Amino acid sequence: MSDLDSFRLETRAWLEANCPAEMREPARDESDMCWGGRNPAFTNEAQKDWMEAMAARGWTVPDWPSEYGGGGFSPAQTKILKQEMARIGARNPLMSFGISMLGPALLKYGNEEQKKRFLTEIALGQIRWCQGYSEPGAGSDLASLQTKCEDKGDHWLVNGQKVWTSYADKADWIFCLVRTDPAAPKHQGISFLLFDMASPGVTTRPILLISGNSPFCETFFDDVKVPKDQLVGALNKGWDVAKYLLGHEREMISGMGLGGQTDSLGAGLADALAEDPILRADVARFDVDAMAFRAMSERFIDELKAGQAHPAQPSMMKYAGTELNKARHELVMAARGSNALEWESDRSKKGKAAREWLRTKANSIEGGTSEIQLGIVAKRILELPGA
Ligand SMILES: Cc1cc2nc3c(=O)[nH]c(=O)nc-3n(C[C@H](O)[C@H](O)[C@H](O)COP(=O)(O)OP(=O)(O)OC[C@H]3O[C@@H](n4cnc5c(N)ncnc54)[C@H](O)[C@@H]3O)c2cc1C
Repeated sequence: MSDLDSFRLETRAWLEANCPAEMREPARDESDMCWGGRNPAFTNEAQKDWMEAMAARGWTVPDWPSEYGGGGFSPAQTKILKQEMARIGARNPLMSFGISMLGPALLKYGNEEQKKRFLTEIALGQIRWCQGYSEPGAGSDLASLQTKCEDKGDHWLVNGQKVWTSYADKADWIFCLVRTDPAAPKHQGISFLLFDMASPGVTTRPILLISGNSPFCETFFDDVKVPKDQLVGALNKGWDVAKYLLGHEREMISGMGLGGQTDSLGAGLADALAEDPILRADVARFDVDAMAFRAMSERFIDELKAGQAHPAQPSMMKYAGTELNKARHELVMAARGSNALEWESDRSKKGKAAREWLRTKANSIEGGTSEIQLGIVAKRILELPGA
């Protein structure tokens, strides 16, 4: 038996013994997931036990080095752990912008002290992070951001406003893009700063959506003092860190294309499709696209882990994955007809389809719009003239 075969058997046995039954059911929605943080809100004991058991082994971040709280796994071992978790339907033990976004950027650009402190806290689920990139005048043109950061000798002083900051009102810390040199060309005067959301001068105002939810906030900084050692990478070189992090964010969002299921959409909608040949053909086309995306995604992740992915590949994946997810939910709504528009009853049951369908509309905006991703693909992968 090869080393990887025995690793698979050991992993399978540990998961069987330690993953609670409740954690083998899909989460109802985002509020039913474990986000960790200074004051974690667990929906039940099983969720707490599962997060803590996985974190204790470094399995919340299996491919991070063990000195920073990770599992120290190779790409092949990481893949096996994911396959074995999928085999029993085990939930992700910890949802975290720290894991999917900040961590990879710190591994590349953080100094040793920052890695030891922040990566370990992220792996253990002790700090919940939010992302301070977008501003009222800086979305697609992110490098136009104006949040001011001045060097006051023994600290940084931050003033400005962010917008669309997901879960800012629930986060403990923020990773934030700030302007440290207003005289430099726009990409060259930006720095990447980490600070505590409990710092005096930080306020958040939730943005209420038509759905009644408030998943994101306006975030204001008024004379916020930040310790000097919380700047990541070199002063005025924050754009490099920002772009690297965005690649990981786009990789994470592209996963929506997988739909969290391996069954075909056609199989799930069989009853509705029997009487409708046109819809049946649309769903069949979708299922073929979904299979192609799954194969492309697997190859992309392997290339990424081997350091062989094109730097613009996450844009391609993000575009394909999010457009696919939007198409999936359009087809579900079309197949179920007006009944699927039901809205008011228990969200975990009937009202879910309509709410999920509307949520997917944001997939091709968050993390950079589809138009922006197509522009990057045209310029950096296809090298089209004039792009
Ligand atoms: C659900 C959700 C969560 C989010 N969470 C966060 C977060 O946590 N932190 C954060 O910082 N931000 C967050 N955002 C903000 C997100 O990053 C921005 O909405 C996004 O980058 C687009 O910026 P904008 O909204 O200002 O749109 P704009 O940049 O004003 O774009 C408007 C329209 O113009 C198009 N457009 C703009 N420029 C071009 C161009 N050059 N070529 C072609 N078309 C163009 C766009 O594609 C879009 O259709 C979130 C957004 C959503 C929807």
